[in-house]
Amino acid sequence: MVDVAIIGGGPAGIAAALTLKARGVPRVAILEREGVLGGVPRHCGHPPFGVREFGRLLTGPGYAHRLAAAAEAAGVEILLRHSVTALKPGGGLEVATPEGRTTLQALRVLLATGAREAPRSARLVGGDRPLGVLNTGALQAYVHLQGLAPFTHPVVVGTELVGLSALATCRSHGIRPVAVVEAGSRAVARWPLGLFPRLLGIPVHYNSGIEEIIGHGRVEAVRLRDGREIACDGVLLTGRFLPEASLARLSHLAVDARSGGPAVDQYGRCSDDAYFAAGNLLRPIETAGWSFREGAAIAAYIADDLMGGLPAAGEEIALVAGDGVKFVVPQLLSRVAPLRGKLQLRVERPISGQLRVSSEEGVLYKRRISTRPERRILVDLGEMKPPGEAKRLLVEIVS
Ligand SMILES: Cc1cc2nc3c(=O)[nH]c(=O)nc-3n(C[C@H](O)[C@H](O)[C@H](O)COP(=O)(O)OP(=O)(O)OC[C@H]3O[C@@H](n4cnc5c(N)ncnc54)[C@H](O)[C@@H]3O)c2cc1C
Repeated sequence: MVDVAIIGGGPAGIAAALTLKARGVPRVAILEREGVLGGVPRHCGHPPFGVREFGRLLTGPGYAHRLAAAAEAAGVEILLRHSVTALKPGGGLEVATPEGRTTLQALRVLLATGAREAPRSARLVGGDRPLGVLNTGALQAYVHLQGLAPFTHPVVVGTELVGLSALATCRSHGIRPVAVVEAGSRAVARWPLGLFPRLLGIPVHYNSGIEEIIGHGRVEAVRLRDGREIACDGVLLTGRFLPEASLARLSHLAVDARSGGPAVDQYGRCSDDAYFAAGNLLRPIETAGWSFREGAAIAAYIADDLMGGLPAAGEEIALVAGDGVKFVVPQLLSRVAPLRGKLQLRVERPISGQLRVSSEEGVLYKRRISTRPERRILVDLGEMKPPGEAKRLLVEIVS
């Protein structure tokens, strides 16, 4: 039995463990399926990481190392090569360990399993099935953790921020991308970052996508939607993140179809009140620093809850994503006054209009926005009119 079991030893999980230990919670365990702590930053061999947490600009591996050292120094129980395979009602976990299967009971469980990029299957890319089709995370694990270059002249798909991380990784390891392909009419990453491929002299094909991968054994070429064929020896699929929510989906917990992560209230509390969630599992995706701060904030609520200091889950207000809004997190608000915290939203398409939160009674919050997909949008609950007896709030963008 532990007080709090944290599933996932990335920035969110480690920040939560540090906060719980600082709040005097005796038995805090991190269960991590890999052989080391640190999460995704372990293989992001570039800055910027850690400026707010450690007051200096670190690379991903340097940041991961500091997080792991802090967890150890704080007396967190660190269970490596422990993959959680099932969540049971009330905080029971099934775990696969190097010694075989086991179970662990916790008073509270924090899910902090992160997010992953959409694989080829989810992108419906046709053609042959050769070697050399990877996501950024896999590329970085190859080059930074194993010293292997899986290809030398790939085509890169996507222009989100992580696509730039992919290009930087390629360039620093002698890999020369031959083209970048983007489904939209302009780069997803903010200006001027979106100019990065062109600055490297890499042609960018907008309003395009890979129709077919060609290759027997290894990738030899790709055919684009307009019929053009590009010779290459790999395909690097970047971005289009999905929460790593397999555990939650296979469990009794409610999962939000819009965000892809577990449905939570403003305290990060799931539909079973023994479970909480934080970090990129909640929504794809934020920075490591954001995930760290979110892990710490949710852990403070868990510490309150263990002392009986969190409002009981019960009568809640549902937040519904309306027109133009891809998702809203949290999906529920415990009815407390005053409401505190922030709503996090993303949009489905480039959009300008009035962002509104409304109940049957009227508009509780409004402001003008002009934004694009993958941009962070926050609504401060403190600036919203009290919802009164409303059971449901609609969050929408009215053009
Ligand atoms: C290629 C790339 C480049 C990036 N570059 C930057 C950057 O430059 N700066 C920045 O701030 N952010 C960057 N990010 C984002 C940053 O890495 C994430 O925001 C951060 O890692 C999220 O932290 P997390 O704790 O939510 O999840 P993660 O870091 O993903 O950690 C989740 C952990 O959960 C573990 N886990 C999952 N399932 C289980 C299970 N069933 N049992 C046990 N353990 C499990 C995983 O092994 C992993 O260690 C980048 C991300 C990527 C993919």
